[in-house]
Amino acid sequence: MSAVPLARAMALAADRYYATREPFGASGDFVTAPEISQMFGEVIGAWVADLWQRAGSPPDVLLVELGPGRGTLMADVLRTLAKVAPAMRAEVHLVERSARLRAEQAQKLQATWHDMLDSVPTHAPIVCLANEFFDALPLTQFERTDTGWALRAVQAGAWDLSLQANAAIIPEPLRNAPPGAVYERNFAGEALVAGLARRLAAQGGAALVIDYGYSGPALGDTLQAIRHGAFAPPLAHMGEADLSAHVDFAALGAAAARAGAEVFGPVDQGALLMALGIRARADALKALASAERRAEIEAAVVRLTSAGAMGRLFKALALVAPGWPRPAGFSMVNI
Ligand code: SAH
Repeated sequence: MSAVPLARAMALAADRYYATREPFGASGDFVTAPEISQMFGEVIGAWVADLWQRAGSPPDVLLVELGPGRGTLMADVLRTLAKVAPAMRAEVHLVERSARLRAEQAQKLQATWHDMLDSVPTHAPIVCLANEFFDALPLTQFERTDTGWALRAVQAGAWDLSLQANAAIIPEPLRNAPPGAVYERNFAGEALVAGLARRLAAQGGAALVIDYGYSGPALGDTLQAIRHGAFAPPLAHMGEADLSAHVDFAALGAAAARAGAEVFGPVDQGALLMALGIRARADALKALASAERRAEIEAAVVRLTSAGAMGRLFKALALVAPGWPRPAGFSMVNI
């Protein structure tokens, strides 16, 4: 078999992995923020309600989620919206490729499912959420070799560097890196946020993208595999391990801005959740809880917000339709 570019190999692996495995939760490979605590989805629901109200409360809203996993985030958001924005008529649209996960989501949510954003309707503003979605999209990696830059391809579980890349694709300051240096692009993610930005500009609305990542351009190989809850060599178990990579928020933000959205952030997840009132929400839940439950709630706040856990590694980017208000929690940064 000939060498397969990493992005292609990763797309095939992701389809197999999400079709056959239960990746989430204590027994799975990883625990995501909405699975840690209902507070995550509740404060994001409050974020949606606040933005919608300040946008003039348009009655119909297309509530879209990219890669909803178990459907927990959307369920927590909808429960919150029913309380704090009962006048909103929200239609739920879920972008999910895995038939197995669609079935799991259908147990919690009334929704319409889509393979891609393209088939989401166009008649109302979109509020789009994406948590730990972009890190799972097919990644392109370039590696500097003795003779220039190569496209990283996979051949029998090992890297193949026989495909030469056009050096012009590497940002100028990084181009003369030493052999072995790696440069990453999430072309699938950039195309997707560009499409989303065009939708927002045409229909109104906003998107909240949360993931682990950085602001590039930068060198570094961030591809990682998690199998049975532990890190594994990325190419060794394709389709049986969760493959993901750090998200370059600057690249996503630039693609969205070029396509017509206003871009805010990235801000640290910890700062965002604090700004959205996770502290007060935790106190309210604790007031009704047993001592044991109170300790769990407190531990979840620490896990979601502290710099030593998810608070700083995870970041949030907001894309907003021109003319829509500035989203809560994004007052400090604007690119
Ligand atoms: N947002 C959830 C799940 C994150 S895992 C949470 O926070 O718990 C990634 C999700 O994206 C899964 O639902 C997976 O099936 C979906 N997914 C991955 N690649 C996709 C693609 N190319 N198109 C649509 N969905 C995809």
